Amino acid sequence: MTDRTAVYVGCRLFDGAAEVVEDAALAVAGGEVRAAGPRERVLAAAGPDPELVDLAGACVLPGLVDAHTHLHFPIRGFGDWPTGLVEPPEFTAIKAVRNAGTYLAAGVTTVMDCGTRGNLAVALREAVANGVCQGPRIVASGMVVSPTAGLADDHPEFLHLDHPEGEVADTPEQWRAVIRRQAKQGVDNLKIGVSGSALNPYSDSGACDLGHDEIAMIVAEAHRVGCTVAAHVSPPDGFVDCLRAGVDTVHHGFGIDQRCVDALGTATAYFVPTSYKLRAMVEGGVARGRDPARLDEYRRQWDGHVAALRMAVAAGLADRIAVGSDGGHLPGHGQTAAELAVLLEAGMTARQALAAATGVAAAAVGLAGTVGTLRPGALADFLVVDADPVADPTVLADPSRIRAVYQSGRLVAQRGQLTAPPSGGPDGLAPVFLGRGTRTWRSVRRPPPAPPDGPAAG
Ligand SMILES: [Zn+2]
Repeated sequence: MTDRTAVYVGCRLFDGAAEVVEDAALAVAGGEVRAAGPRERVLAAAGPDPELVDLAGACVLPGLVDAHTHLHFPIRGFGDWPTGLVEPPEFTAIKAVRNAGTYLAAGVTTVMDCGTRGNLAVALREAVANGVCQGPRIVASGMVVSPTAGLADDHPEFLHLDHPEGEVADTPEQWRAVIRRQAKQGVDNLKIGVSGSALNPYSDSGACDLGHDEIAMIVAEAHRVGCTVAAHVSPPDGFVDCLRAGVDTVHHGFGIDQRCVDALGTATAYFVPTSYKLRAMVEGGVARGRDPARLDEYRRQWDGHVAALRMAVAAGLADRIAVGSDGGHLPGHGQTAAELAVLLEAGMTARQALAAATGVAAAAVGLAGTVGTLRPGALADFLVVDADPVADPTVLADPSRIRAVYQSGRLVAQRGQLTAPPSGGPDGLAPVFLGRGTRTWRSVRRPPPAPPDGPAAG
């Protein structure tokens, strides 16, 4: 990578929060943003002899951040065999590499993986970070953890799997052992199942499998070893328990009510509603072979879900709602921006929706100021879009409208296609340690959350 500063001019610019600058410019050097804003100011800050790139009226915004993916997934669940029952883990890993590239080509430059097989997400995180393969920056979870008969307990008792997709923990001692083992393996985030899923016939999506005190114990242990906690939870009681117990992100919330919105307002967590996933299940689940009876549950949840989102937006909590696709169920991988249409329906302004997919999602995954923003010092992950996403964010759901995707200042995709090889050298790498002390994102985790009655996170 050349150290010569590149200055992109002739563009509108959305900064990842709320600001839009006309006749803007973006200066990039060494893979980082050096300046962004009004053209003359950026040119003055760029130093002598920059390389000028005229974007001819395009819009520049930070690369998208998806706060809920499963990079290893094909669709799984009721009506499909769980991957772990039929597919060799080696093949799952190869597919995950392909899936990671799909996100990047669609303009998604950072994801949080919310539950993997084995330690695949950590391995993929390091492969991407070391230029072995292409993909978004990955904030990695290990396998999903839940109690027996919960989210992660997805196969019958008579099967004993060497490579399952979930871990079961019931007692505090078992939870501590799982958390410490996952931390040893280098995960950034612990994904817990507080309630079940309509897709797992051994669980109950309407029941809370963990209470407040258990969740608080889990959060304390995870934070102690430097991991954030993401909770899969839908019942209102469980949602409130998670917020009060200090989890970092609450996911899905299908069925939440005003009480949950009030609790979100006084907590520090971010809400990742994965709304488009719910819509995709309702609208396309039967066609994709899902059991109609199981999908009825999603159908019942859909109207209430949008209404609850509307309540949260009306309560001034738009900046606490982050885009997450649950990619790999329905919707498929790389359809992150489909969530934006639902957020607009829920009353977000276009700029709030764009922020939910950039700056807010970055904060939700612990990377505020590092990605999802074009502030000086941020990594130069940005998109050049032909259309005007500030007027209509839903254009981002069509990768052909994304003229260029840059990651660390490097052009990696154009109009939905990867265009550059991985950056890793031809001779490969020395063996890579996947461990607690070698996490890529260790230095950029946000500080532990303040107590629930403390200042709201921003
Ligand atoms: Zn998920």
